[in-house]
Amino acid sequence: MNARPPEAAGAPAEDLSAGPVRVLSFGCRLNTYESVAMRELALRAGHEGAILVNTCAVTAEAEKQARKAIRRAARENPGAPILVTGCAAQIAPDSWAALPGVARVIGNADKLKPEAWAPAAPPAPVSDVMAATETAAHLVTEFAGRARAFVQVQQGCDHRCTFCVIPYGRGPSRSVPVGAIVAQVRAVLEAGYREVVLTGVDIASYGTDLPGRPPLGQMVRRLLALVPELPRLRLSSLDPAAMDEDLWRLLAEEPRLMPHLHLSLQHGAELMLKRMRRRHGRAEALACARRAQALRPGLALGADLIAGFPTETEEHFAEMLALVEEAGLTFLHVFPYSERPGTPAARMPQLPVPLRRERAARLRAAGAEAALRFYNARLAFARLGQEESVLLESPDRGHTEHFAPLRLKGATGHHGAVLRARVTAAGPDGLLAEVA
Ligand code: SF4
Repeated sequence: MNARPPEAAGAPAEDLSAGPVRVLSFGCRLNTYESVAMRELALRAGHEGAILVNTCAVTAEAEKQARKAIRRAARENPGAPILVTGCAAQIAPDSWAALPGVARVIGNADKLKPEAWAPAAPPAPVSDVMAATETAAHLVTEFAGRARAFVQVQQGCDHRCTFCVIPYGRGPSRSVPVGAIVAQVRAVLEAGYREVVLTGVDIASYGTDLPGRPPLGQMVRRLLALVPELPRLRLSSLDPAAMDEDLWRLLAEEPRLMPHLHLSLQHGAELMLKRMRRRHGRAEALACARRAQALRPGLALGADLIAGFPTETEEHFAEMLALVEEAGLTFLHVFPYSERPGTPAARMPQLPVPLRRERAARLRAAGAEAALRFYNARLAFARLGQEESVLLESPDRGHTEHFAPLRLKGATGHHGAVLRARVTAAGPDGLLAEVA
């Protein structure tokens, strides 16, 4: 699962509107990428005045937010056709089609196909995403004011974690052939982007459906070789159970691969990981973190973690808190468990929602402490003369290669530029620096 920070899972939509088509995107980076691609398809197909809503099914809150946005859009824009897609719409198309103003529900398997947007296209039943065999690569060169470009390399998931509905929204794992990825990366570099984030649902499963089953590491190595002008490459969430040897070698040897990995851990207690049906245990998660730090000293490790999973005791929770320290995790994406209808976990004994939220808050506090330790370590390196390379997302703010947030004293840069900076202070919100 490659969710954007958890607050995004229940957050209001990201407005990716441009020209006469309004676009409201919920959920993950993959949805962001697809929303930009669909906006272009809708424009080209002549859907002037339409409102496109790309839904997310990761949490109940994300669905609630999307329904609220559709009702408001229908109220404020009477007569405007609302086109709905995304994982929540794929899983329960009729209930979304019944909302006010909804003119069409487009399935996840069809959302990047131009024919699905043809104005005259008859309302068709949402196709069975479980039967999807390919993933449409789409050239997207504009990311709504973002400084880094998202490139989809994979889609869907073959696993069945007990809390997750994503496989039912996105279908089986499908990979984008490396040639299409290279073309997409070259296009965004030509459009001026200096950093690319490879995204998907379970990118560690890259290649399992391609001839010769090239693993993620092999694809990344070929991409970096074929696009020597790509300065910064970042990976979205990785499953610790599926890191291949090529990827480990690249992490150790390739400076253009950013020293920041985000791991899809989900928990830190052995029994919870078993009940989640995760592919890794606590020992594997720890070994993965330690190997990454040994290969790339100073690397930043992020992780997705769920608090309040059914049957979680205070002892299980304490094991997760301990893992944050033992594994040297820095940036935590913490989700209070949200039961999803039809999942095995939803049939397990549930914890009270206030307890889930209280544990999520304690885990976030542990994450904030870990992040501050990391920022102070970067300050200590600066005192030894080390500089940071920062990608600016605004004239005075950006993120370093380790994905540490950084503010520049005396705004001199411009959105999308990569600068050298010398850290002068560290605090809970990140680093303060001056241009080197
Ligand atoms: S089933 Fe598991 S691996 Fe697949 S998307 Fe969901 S959480 Fe990720």
